[in-house]
Parts: sequence; C-alpha cells; structure tokens
Amino acid sequence: MDKTRRDFLTATVTAAGAAVTHDLAHAQDQDHGHSHQIVPSDPALRVKSLESLLVEKGLVDRAALDALVDGYEHKIGPRNGARVVARAWIDPSYKKRLLADATSAIAEFGFFNQQGERIVALENTSKIHNLVVCTLCSCYPWPVLGLPPVWYKSAPYRSRAVIDPRGVLREFDLELPEDVEVRVWDSTAEVRYIVLPERPPGSEKMNEQELAALVTRDAMIGVKKVTLTQAQGAT
Ligand code: FE
Repeated sequence: MDKTRRDFLTATVTAAGAAVTHDLAHAQDQDHGHSHQIVPSDPALRVKSLESLLVEKGLVDRAALDALVDGYEHKIGPRNGARVVARAWIDPSYKKRLLADATSAIAEFGFFNQQGERIVALENTSKIHNLVVCTLCSCYPWPVLGLPPVWYKSAPYRSRAVIDPRGVLREFDLELPEDVEVRVWDSTAEVRYIVLPERPPGSEKMNEQELAALVTRDAMIGVKKVTLTQAQGAT
C-alpha cells in the first residue's frame, strides 16, 4: 500500500458521519493487508456494541450476519463488475444496453441487490475519464463492486476527488494528458456508478474470461486504467 492510501486509511478513523452499514463494512475490512489500529475507531465500536445487543436480545442471528457480510465480500465482489465490463468489451449490443440502462443490463447477469437499485455506467474513452466518489459518505454499487474500499470512504478522498481530481489520480499513479476531460460523479443512495474502463491495447485476442481477469475494482471506480499486467486484489 502506498503512502496516499495509508493516509486515506488513517483519515478514515476520524471521518464522521458514515452510515452503520459502511462502518460494519469497514470493520470487516481489517484483515486485508493494511495497518491495523490498536484500538478500533468509535464507529466500529458502536457497530460492535449494537451487534452484540441485537444478538443478545435475539433480534438478529450472528450466523446470518456473517453470511451476509461473507456474501458481499466473496460472492458479490468486483468480479461481478469485471464480468460486466468484459462482456461490454466483446459484445457491442451489450455495451449499448449497458450504457443506456446499466441496472437492467447488469441484471442480465443476475446481479441485482440492495445498494444497487439504480446503477449508471460511465464509459471511459481516450478523451474522457470518469471518476466516481461519494462526497457525502460512501455510496457504492454493491452488486457489481462488493464492499467499498477503506480509502473510498475516507474524508480526504471524498473531498479531494472533487477539488483536485487530477491530483488524486496522480496519487494512484495515473497521470492523464491535459486534453483528457476528467468527469467526477458523485454517488448517492439513489444513483450509483460503475466506470466502463477502456479495453487495454494488446488484449485483442483475449476471450471474455481472460478480459474479465484484467479488470480491477479500482478501474471500475475510475482511479486506475486497465492494463495487461496489473496485479489483482490491491486494496
Ligand atoms: Fe454514501
């Protein structure tokens, strides 16, 4: 993890106002290779207390909670979005449907769930680069991208993505030419976004499955491009 992401992560500890579900996600994010806090953040403690109370009173089943979180972490993750992107790259008619009505096009794969009731797909081209943020909290298209990464929920990313998008992209090692227009999209509970990245040069002979393996979560948020060599699963 580079310094910037570490900074975003650190800032998350003090960021106020995130919804309980987001904090639960954050609490579940702790084992993914980044620095752990010695003392959990206040929101994480509140979530734990709430969870304990609900379980103690028999109002929720801890196993059901675990199954829900596991589903979003392992089954409903960015691999879903990657399949959507790869299909759009190889099938022009699917791409057209995706850009016209992403919610329906994504539902063709059976990907439809809460936090994804209305999804809009944004196409990156050689002249337009789309970047997604939720300035208010951490709204994110769960059915296609899973749980939001910690840095996405951090106050610095949420504010700076709007004020200085090129600067933020530079910190993700993405330097865009001046003639590329950067468009920043603010996710809300009503509308969430997925970026359709550009298909990388050199991938012309790859099949759909091979293409899907190239697509990262970060590229579908718009902080990275898809390349032939990128590592998977970076946080
Ligand atoms: Fe939000």
